[in-house]
Amino acid sequence: MKKLLLTFFLLSTAFGISQTLLSPSEFLGYELGSEFTRHHQVMDYYKYLAETASDRVKLVEYGKTNERRPLIVAYVSSPENIVALESIRLEHLKNTTGQGSPTKAIVWLSYNVHGNESVSTEASMQTIYELLTNKSSYLENTVVIMDPCINPDGRDRYVNWYNQFKNTPNNIDPNSKEHHEGWLNGRSNHYMFDLNRDWAWLTQIESQQRIKVFNQWLPHVHVDFHEQGVNNPYYFAPAAEPFHEVVTDFQRDFQITIGKNHAKYFDANGWFYFTKEVFDLLYPSYGDTYPTYNGGIGMTYEQGGSGRAGLGVKTIIGDTLTLNDRIAHHLTTGLSTVEVASQNTDKLNREFKKFYQNKNFKYKSYVMNGDPDKIDAIAALLRSHEIKYGWAKEGTAKGHLYSSGKLGTTKTTPSTLVVSTDQVKGTLAQVLMEPNTKLSDSLTYDITAWSLPYAYGLEAIASQTLVESDPSGDWEILPSKEVDINQDTYAFVSDWSSMKDARFLTALVKENIRVRFAKNPFLAEGKKFDRGSLIITKGDNKNHKDFAETLSRVAYDNTTTLTPTNTGFVEKGNDFGSSYVPMITDTKIAMLSGEPTNTLEFGEIWHFFEQQLHYPLTILDSEYYDQVELSDYDVLILPNGWYGKFFSENKLQDLKEFVKNGGKVIAMEGAIKGINGEHGFGLKEKEIKKDSTENILPYEEAEREDIKNAITGAIFRTKVDQTHPLAYGYGDHYFTLKLSDDAFENLETGTVVYLENTDSPVAGFAGSEAKKKIANTLVFGVEEVGKGQVVYMVDNPLFRGFWENGKLFFVNALFMVK
Ligand SMILES: [Zn+2]
Repeated sequence: MKKLLLTFFLLSTAFGISQTLLSPSEFLGYELGSEFTRHHQVMDYYKYLAETASDRVKLVEYGKTNERRPLIVAYVSSPENIVALESIRLEHLKNTTGQGSPTKAIVWLSYNVHGNESVSTEASMQTIYELLTNKSSYLENTVVIMDPCINPDGRDRYVNWYNQFKNTPNNIDPNSKEHHEGWLNGRSNHYMFDLNRDWAWLTQIESQQRIKVFNQWLPHVHVDFHEQGVNNPYYFAPAAEPFHEVVTDFQRDFQITIGKNHAKYFDANGWFYFTKEVFDLLYPSYGDTYPTYNGGIGMTYEQGGSGRAGLGVKTIIGDTLTLNDRIAHHLTTGLSTVEVASQNTDKLNREFKKFYQNKNFKYKSYVMNGDPDKIDAIAALLRSHEIKYGWAKEGTAKGHLYSSGKLGTTKTTPSTLVVSTDQVKGTLAQVLMEPNTKLSDSLTYDITAWSLPYAYGLEAIASQTLVESDPSGDWEILPSKEVDINQDTYAFVSDWSSMKDARFLTALVKENIRVRFAKNPFLAEGKKFDRGSLIITKGDNKNHKDFAETLSRVAYDNTTTLTPTNTGFVEKGNDFGSSYVPMITDTKIAMLSGEPTNTLEFGEIWHFFEQQLHYPLTILDSEYYDQVELSDYDVLILPNGWYGKFFSENKLQDLKEFVKNGGKVIAMEGAIKGINGEHGFGLKEKEIKKDSTENILPYEEAEREDIKNAITGAIFRTKVDQTHPLAYGYGDHYFTLKLSDDAFENLETGTVVYLENTDSPVAGFAGSEAKKKIANTLVFGVEEVGKGQVVYMVDNPLFRGFWENGKLFFVNALFMVK
């Protein structure tokens, strides 16, 4: 034994392997795979490696999570490459403009985007160790960038939970508590967002901080490590159809090259795996598609396991799946990926260059007009993706009109935003902005439409010819000038059309400034103001100590333009003293959380209040909801969920009393079914007549037949009743993202946004039966009950936080509907 150790020591010294580098097991003090490692311990190990092998590992902390955990990447390569890291990076980026002659492969490995898919981070530690020791030859021509944990808040939530609930020793019986996380599981981040749906929308701080580093590198290969159900064999590339049409032949082929290399190792070990199924390459906000649309080979690897697996769990065929098994598989594919990349550096660099030289896009320019706040919002997103844009000249542009789906023209001015596909990020621009994504297969894992001009509520044209524009640097936000409040000022008016206006309102309310809004359009100071415009009068605020100073500050902070008037007498419309100009009061808002609600959609609302609207929200958990005095609140939000019998007859009675006495309920998606029906409120589900003469189908066609009833995230044009307070700030139509075929009858009064006999979505897939079902149904509406209201949202305007143009409906539901 001693002799053997000595031989190993001599050998390792002779081959230059750092004999002092501790493996994860040696460093952590327990065998890797026998415990889950907390984030701070993972960080300690990476720091240890960066100190001990400083010539080959460089750590960069690129940010912090909501719960203040560090986010890091580790650059791992040969000493020569680490010294030259910055010049390697610059040479690689030159390839995007057809210059430079890079020689290194760039591989980025991302772990644990889903927190409770907890093996990934464990595997990352063994992977970096192997790269630095046994597999160091790969690093001679390859830079590996490792993010050991994209989602530390979610992962620690899982790990801490597991450590609290696990049996000692751990119990493989799947019924034991240690295999059942419950409602607040570790998959998502602090705000319950799925970070593997956020790469394109960048609503979360983890994504926002990571994308900056990602754009500095644009790797040749990116792997997103995941886990799936306990009983599934391992999944690796090649991916399943549909592929987005921008995916190149090389990108497809190289996925196969990598997959075959993995298969070699899996075959040798007798491990099971599958490829080409389930995980497609379409929706652009994933950790595989986003890097693909940036010229890389983006892949998802899925181990069987996740939050159900613990340290070990019995599978359906009676085997035991251990954490060690799961580590071994992710370790193998991680190393095999780097191996393939290091064998193909020339090819990767050549093809990467080719990808960026492609300018063969159907549309040459995307041209957008609209509310300046919305233009401002989309421009900010484009900047985050390093997509360049410019401003048009006076003239017209011709092309595919987003509003009608037909050919048409639009006027252009210097405030018209133009995105050309003739730029480095042309492919990404096309994927995010094209009016309708081509589907090679309608069976997909996610939504099939996301086109940004619809999401941001802009009037847009996709033009097949280049529309000239002035490349401006950055969109300059002009701070409003100091608000001058003189003796004669009677009131200030500001418009109501965007989330920026909504933030201005909530900031005023929090400062105890009284605000009114106009229920009808009016003309003041020669300017036309629409419904919903905010009116801040000196008279209302005469008791406010620092009215002038506070209003100036809040307007400045929100870059709000205020129009001062010297009179409450308007030229057209209702005077400011009219009952049609009511006060917005300090509104107390509560939201139900816990079991009946969907964690993701609960999280979307939570994030909306705290990070977008900046307004306080009380979260009432379903466990003690019964003991809460509802009348303490003005608004109760019921997020999407599976309510089942949660609202018992008694609970429903209490809810009705709350509304009758002036309370407001906002019921979203699945919550609508929870409070309607026999003893509930008055919204009716649309009855569907089933055809009894349906064909008898062969078994293998059943899945395809099912999609006739499916809407997997498609964009529909709806009609809007602009006179209703729920629709203030909107025009006569609105593009909604439909996520299901749930269908409700229109209300007799209070139907605000609705589908007509629409046959097809403007973008995305909807099955033939589903289209019939949702014809002539409600999208958003308000039922008046006693002194209060129930606001119905059949579609979710806060979905994944990216449907910017839907958000004002939600704000209107909070403050304007009364
Ligand atoms: Zn996952």
